Amino acid sequence: MVFMRHGCGHRIWLVYRWTGIRYRPEYRDEEEESPTAGEYITHCPTCGEFLSTDDLLAENTYLIEHAYLVAD
Ligand SMILES: [Zn+2]
Repeated sequence: MVFMRHGCGHRIWLVYRWTGIRYRPEYRDEEEESPTAGEYITHCPTCGEFLSTDDLLAENTYLIEHAYLVAD
């Protein structure tokens, strides 16, 4: 799991979850002020864009590999 920032600056928690076939990215809202704080989201609550790992910047790029640690 990794804390990321969307292109607009919204803070998002990223985790790759194993589906049995592949890893699927899941996003959780990490902005305390946000109405969906702590919930899993598919769109950025601030700018409304559909979330994609391409639009996220890691707060610490070293930690990206640890996003793969959580698997069901
Ligand atoms: Zn955004």
